[in-house]
Amino acid sequence: MTRTGTFTWLLSFGLVLAWMAGAGEGLPAAENKRPPNFVIIFTDDQGYADVGCFGAQGFETPNLDRMAREGRRFTNFVVGQAVCSASRVALLTGCYPQRVSILGALGPRSPVGINQREVLLPELLKPRGYATCIVGKWHLGDHPRFLPTRHGFDEYFGIPYSNDMWPFHPGTNVFPPLPLLHQERVVAVNPDQHYLTTWYTEYAVDFIRRNRNRPFFLYLAHNMPHVPLFVSEKFRGKSKQGLYGDVIMEIDWSVGRILDTLRELQLDRNTLVIFTSDNGPWLSYGNHAGSAGPLREGKGTTWEGGHREPCIMWWPGRVPAGTECREFCATLDLLPTLARLAGASLPEHKIDGHDIWPLISGQPGAKSPWKAFYYYYYGYELQAVRSGRWKLHFPHRYRTLAGEPGRDGLPGPYKIVRTGLELYDLETDVGERHNVADKHPEVVRRLQALAEEARRDLGDSLTGRKGRGVRPPGRVEW
Ligand code: MG
Repeated sequence: MTRTGTFTWLLSFGLVLAWMAGAGEGLPAAENKRPPNFVIIFTDDQGYADVGCFGAQGFETPNLDRMAREGRRFTNFVVGQAVCSASRVALLTGCYPQRVSILGALGPRSPVGINQREVLLPELLKPRGYATCIVGKWHLGDHPRFLPTRHGFDEYFGIPYSNDMWPFHPGTNVFPPLPLLHQERVVAVNPDQHYLTTWYTEYAVDFIRRNRNRPFFLYLAHNMPHVPLFVSEKFRGKSKQGLYGDVIMEIDWSVGRILDTLRELQLDRNTLVIFTSDNGPWLSYGNHAGSAGPLREGKGTTWEGGHREPCIMWWPGRVPAGTECREFCATLDLLPTLARLAGASLPEHKIDGHDIWPLISGQPGAKSPWKAFYYYYYGYELQAVRSGRWKLHFPHRYRTLAGEPGRDGLPGPYKIVRTGLELYDLETDVGERHNVADKHPEVVRRLQALAEEARRDLGDSLTGRKGRGVRPPGRVEW
């Protein structure tokens, strides 16, 4: 679909949108006080250092930097697993991806997707009167049974998996045409990706406007800056760093549009906005990848460069302005925290995240609620465990660049290397460079004991264990 064609299509929604806006106003308000709105902006493959106030070089992010000045920066914030589908399911279920059996990155026509018995964040919020919307990348299964409209979202506009899973992939020709969906209908095939960030932003702003009079949950999951990179004319050539910087500057513009809309509608004092990304940079893409700054490695590893993300939270009057949280917390915490703020019930089944409102609201002396956090990769390999300042890696394989990375949209090669049993003190060595296992045998033993709990519960293919607390994925036949 051309740019004009897609805009015509978007405009053709006018009547439908107007009707929906009217319908929204007639809905009963939530009991008691109106619960807060939530906006989660979730980018794809953005590195820890790819935001101005996290150390970006060669491009500026004035809107994200302002968001941080008016809100709170989280410098010790991780995702559930350092790859797309697994990271997204952790955010939306509050569970480790291993618990809900959504692992890695699902391909088109995946026979596996989110199980209908899982309870996603929008499903928790709907009984409290929320309008719910996802704009952008879904990636929990593209069969109709797995789509967001079947899992708690009233509205969906976006791509059901990664934007490189299309016929123009630089390294493989296995992918079918890439669909752009509205609800469950394909509205474009192989859409012009130059306009994805713009279209998503305009849809998101429109959703906010239509639902200004009721509580809403907006999940804006940009496809960018996942390769292939695309940017509209608005930002082409704007950064000193090249196309990757241009793309981030456009995402920053998008953040500004969302925050300005909330201010204009006087919703800013009743809306919690959270910005973060699904995993670290895809380093083999070289100048089309981001930067994890001082952190080791990137996407697809259990080193901090894969798991730790830039995160900013903003809610004027409730989240203290211009502050920083250094306590450990994770995307898994958002479901229980937002449920609490909304007065919603938690799922009856086990979840792994914790209510971190004391950290978000800056309560004096608030500490991380995590006794241990488990870093998995390659499905069920328990590769590392974290407790407090300590992170213990178990012997495992991981990928690292084999020489020079790729350029201009073509990936360079990885090689597989091994690490031993290695202990790192993340407070003094965030780059995981100095193995101190020999100096702290008691810490190694304590973290090994914590890992045993995870192996019993979630399994560990490195030690041949199956977890008792693992729930099955959804399955379909195409
Ligand atoms: Mg990703």
